[in-house]
Amino acid sequence: MKPFCFANDRILPSEQAFIHPLDIGLIRGYAIFDFFRTENFKPFFLEEYLRRFISSAERTYLPLNLGLHELERIVHELIEKNELEQGGIRMILSGGVSENHFSPSRGSLFIFCETLNMPPREKYEFGVKLLSEEYVRPLPTIKSTNYTLPVRLSVNWKEQGVEDLIYHYDGIISESSRSNIFIVKDNKIATPIANILFGITRRNVIALSDGVEERDIYLDELMDADEAFITSTTKRILPVTNIDGKPIGDGKVGKITRLLMEKFREVELKERMLV
Ligand code: PLP
Repeated sequence: MKPFCFANDRILPSEQAFIHPLDIGLIRGYAIFDFFRTENFKPFFLEEYLRRFISSAERTYLPLNLGLHELERIVHELIEKNELEQGGIRMILSGGVSENHFSPSRGSLFIFCETLNMPPREKYEFGVKLLSEEYVRPLPTIKSTNYTLPVRLSVNWKEQGVEDLIYHYDGIISESSRSNIFIVKDNKIATPIANILFGITRRNVIALSDGVEERDIYLDELMDADEAFITSTTKRILPVTNIDGKPIGDGKVGKITRLLMEKFREVELKERMLV
């Protein structure tokens, strides 16, 4: 955590941020957040992340008394004060303290700057392993703070050499716990359309590809894919080479995945240069 944050309606030293213990963010798990990166002091795709944050607030009936431009201004001020050349920015809006300890109320807005380590090079070289899990995230299109299931399961991931989960329901896959997923079969790229968070990285990957089918994808199709990869702000494009102990394709990082990883780097370089 960097020295300055936005909390209690102003910029202050991070250790002075506080939240009431009876906030329904804590006692009911009712809160939203968003997360984006800076490089070269530049917040990548800031407007997209802020729009998603504002939309999550509206759809959870949580009042946010700052608009897009005010949020942009605060983010830039925090980057400057924290000298955040490269790192992560986390925005959180809690459900608030309510009379009946249940209804959404006026919550607290926090914005923190953080150190961020991207995945090590080996993961991009050799790919990662996922475990399938029958689950649908509650309110999947909203970036809520409810990650109870994957946080609990993650306790055993390290010893299993597992990166994350792939959720499925009724035989159809949706997303990983903190990423979207894509498959490649016979040179065609596809990604799930239902029960997902519409990731900013997912959107960027679709934009740089020559054509991605957004549709229902069966778990069997994923297991039978030539290539698979997950996408997120903190992972970029990360190849998936094993699911439930079975190799995907030949168990190596595929050529279309490599090509997209390369193209994505160019998109980020361009974003870095923009003022
Ligand atoms: N799906 C879920 C559930 C997530 O939590 C995230 C990111 O945290 C994503 C997908 C990927 O979204 P983005 O590319 O905007 O980071």
